Amino acid sequence: MNKLPAIAIYGYSDSGKTTVLTDLVEKLTESGHGVCTVKHTPADVSLDSEGKDTRRHVDSGSSLTVFSTGVETDLMFPEPLPLNDILRLVGSAGSCDLVLVEGFKSSSLPKISVGDIEGKDGTIMRYDGDLDPVLEAIESEIRITEIENELPGLDCGLCGNESCREMAEEIYEGKREVKDCQVLEEKDLNLRVDGEDIPLENFPASIIKSGLKGMLESLKGVDDDFDHVSLEADY
Ligand code: SF4
Repeated sequence: MNKLPAIAIYGYSDSGKTTVLTDLVEKLTESGHGVCTVKHTPADVSLDSEGKDTRRHVDSGSSLTVFSTGVETDLMFPEPLPLNDILRLVGSAGSCDLVLVEGFKSSSLPKISVGDIEGKDGTIMRYDGDLDPVLEAIESEIRITEIENELPGLDCGLCGNESCREMAEEIYEGKREVKDCQVLEEKDLNLRVDGEDIPLENFPASIIKSGLKGMLESLKGVDDDFDHVSLEADY
């Protein structure tokens, strides 16, 4: 499943971050985006109250309780989920092309800060009262994630970047192209060891391919003009 672009909005309590987030949702929805939102609080609170029927469902050990009402549908898991699991869930359940997260300031997501809070790692900008530059930064983030989804996601470093995300940023800035991904370059040679894809640089890939071709051509019963080979070995 493709990764959804996700951006965290963070700031102190009462800094106005919820207003910034909801204003962004309105503007982005007007411009044709589907936006899902996540609100995080580290406090031990629940939307439900002790003794209510739905709370009893959750407390009974149910893996997932769905609270269905005349106006909304709430999913209740019996424990806090890691952010990546929440984003996967949102991606599969909601019809959106972007997720805005309120909170999760220590996550690895790209972030926008609101108010005078100290900048956290991954902060792409500070909101200064003008939504337009924030909307531009979000559009860039959507494009960078689209590029990232074209890359294999192996974070192998063969292209000289530590991660596919860094490579996607360079492609977005016009410094590189998708075809500079060393793994995609050699996609006509796939090596898997114990079920794991092994990224190969061009040189070892071409040595393996030419060595295998020479050996196969010398075997009885193999036509010289074969165009696909599968090889599996147990050790
Ligand atoms: S070579 Fe390709 S798979 Fe490896 S980090 Fe670079 S972009 Fe990602």
